[in-house]
Amino acid sequence: MDCIFCKIINNEVKSSKVYEDEDLICIRDINPQAPVHVLIIPKKHIAKLHELKEEDINLVGKMLKIACQIAEKEGIKDFGYRIVINTNRNAGQSVDHIHFHLLGGRVMLWPPG
Ligand code: AMP
Repeated sequence: MDCIFCKIINNEVKSSKVYEDEDLICIRDINPQAPVHVLIIPKKHIAKLHELKEEDINLVGKMLKIACQIAEKEGIKDFGYRIVINTNRNAGQSVDHIHFHLLGGRVMLWPPG
């Protein structure tokens, strides 16, 4: 499958890994939009949020928990951070393998662009 995140998960493409376990891999974004920009990626290939199944609910909960732990480790827990899921091209999704963006280390604006 021609998926950049699957290639990273399979060690076919190098990445800057901050966390890995049997379900998830967390890497630094190659094009960071904030001082801290980490991607939380499930190892299971799920292309879009709308393809999530009942059996994936625990996985998504774990992604959120790990994102919070990384925010703490990266020193942005108290300052503030944002977790983003872009869905489909008009919302900015460029990789069809679900992932959370963990962004922090600077003041964030609202509404987002
Ligand atoms: P999205 O546009 O929401 O689908 O997010 C995809 C993110 O993956 C973008 O922020 C890209 O900069 C990032 N990205 C793409 N390829 C790589 C890569 N090889 N290593 C790390 N991040 C990547």
